[in-house]
Amino acid sequence: MYIADAHCDTLYALAIRNRDPSTLQATRSALEQGGVALQTYALFIGTHDDPGTPKSRIRAMLGAVESLGVPLLEGPLPKKLPPGPVAVLSIEGGEAIDRLEELELYKSLGVRMITLTWNHENRIGYPALSGSRRGLKPFGFELLEQMGALGIIADLSHLNDQGIEDVLAHGRVKAAASHSNIRELTPFPRNLPRALAREIIRAKGFIGLNFCGEFLAGGRPATLEDVRRHGEAILELGGEKALGMGSDFDGISNWPQGLDSAADFPKLLKVLGQGVDHATLKDIAWGNLWRLYKEAEVLS
Ligand SMILES: [Zn+2]
Repeated sequence: MYIADAHCDTLYALAIRNRDPSTLQATRSALEQGGVALQTYALFIGTHDDPGTPKSRIRAMLGAVESLGVPLLEGPLPKKLPPGPVAVLSIEGGEAIDRLEELELYKSLGVRMITLTWNHENRIGYPALSGSRRGLKPFGFELLEQMGALGIIADLSHLNDQGIEDVLAHGRVKAAASHSNIRELTPFPRNLPRALAREIIRAKGFIGLNFCGEFLAGGRPATLEDVRRHGEAILELGGEKALGMGSDFDGISNWPQGLDSAADFPKLLKVLGQGVDHATLKDIAWGNLWRLYKEAEVLS
């Protein structure tokens, strides 16, 4: 069975952190071993401690795309998901955008989704980790309008609850939480409260399961069963057509035992498949994310 994954930080690990490729989790060979047909590679704007600026770091990561050895899908998507592996791009952190006109350029470079904030407040809004209850800022609303017009998906992971509500209420942009779990199961601000997960499902959006140990299990070591529990919680909200993968590979420092890289996806599918029928498992594995990308394209 194919896999489509909504988030990994491999380009950042390679181009900004200069990590040894042999230590990475979402390399071409890991994707091939794990049956990953589609990998979303994030252009992560980086932290305040990284050298350069968000834009210079994005340029460096774009320069590293070719070294992945995974062909990038630019322009309109094919009718059917190719066996792959193929890559699509997202931007993680709205600091990459100074002017609305830049969105078109990013789109032409293969960017299909933008994570509105990372963990710092920016011109768009406030991150979940800030604890702020304020909503999107004026530039955030302008950006949504333009993203909707271009068919670029608004990624709600990292954004605070009020900001997420504002994006969903705006309604003219496709919305996803590319790498977030359920807060009632693991009380961490980066996880989505059930009520907002339900709203994303209602808006025909997407929620990708994050493999970060803390988001899955809090202080204890996470297991594949924890990934299943968070997935089940999303299915219980009616998320059969919204649930998918948001591994966060190469951006996390601990993960469930046995899920060491993209090569281990088949092990996870075995566990996830225990409680769902084959068609639903296929949607979770790749169908829902592929549909999100296709539907966003139709909107533009
Ligand atoms: Zn992230």
